[in-house]
Amino acid sequence: MPRPAIFFDRDGVINLSPGEGYVLNWEAFHFSDGIMAATKLCKDLGYALVLVTSQQGVGKGLISQQTLDDIHARMQQELAAQGAAFDRIEACTHLSGTCTCRKPSPEMILDAAAALDLDLGNSWLIGDHDRDIQMAINAGVPHTIRVLSHHQPGVAATHTVESTAELPALLKGVLPGVVS
Ligand SMILES: [Mg+2]
Ligand SMILES: [Zn+2]
Repeated sequence: MPRPAIFFDRDGVINLSPGEGYVLNWEAFHFSDGIMAATKLCKDLGYALVLVTSQQGVGKGLISQQTLDDIHARMQQELAAQGAAFDRIEACTHLSGTCTCRKPSPEMILDAAAALDLDLGNSWLIGDHDRDIQMAINAGVPHTIRVLSHHQPGVAATHTVESTAELPALLKGVLPGVVS
């Protein structure tokens, strides 16, 4: 049976936003408030957890693929210690205009759906940028949660929170459990 997923943007959702720059090493990666509880809740309800992240810093030569992989391995360790590691990580590391997977392309979501046998029609995406919300719409993911940030909201999300600290309470209220 295909199962639904929660797709998480990384910078500004899982970890504090580096602003206009990039997280270049593990020391600069700081989990956002509430995110441990949020991921655990999603996992406990039976959802697959998928990270969908744009890391163009790799394409620009500012950070190596190896360092990005290292950051993600450490992130996974910390999440696993709380019982909620990602089931899959999709990262677009390409320069804008040089690939087909850059947000708002649905490609990262569709690739994860094929790999994990996901039910996109009952899936959710949490992001802090129009590109995240639009990617979900383009992929047929109907439920979207925008975390307000310095990015100006243009594309309408189905839910909005002021900060990631509100995610556990919101998710508890709106997420149906997965019947398996
Ligand atoms: Mg973001
Ligand atoms: Zn790409």
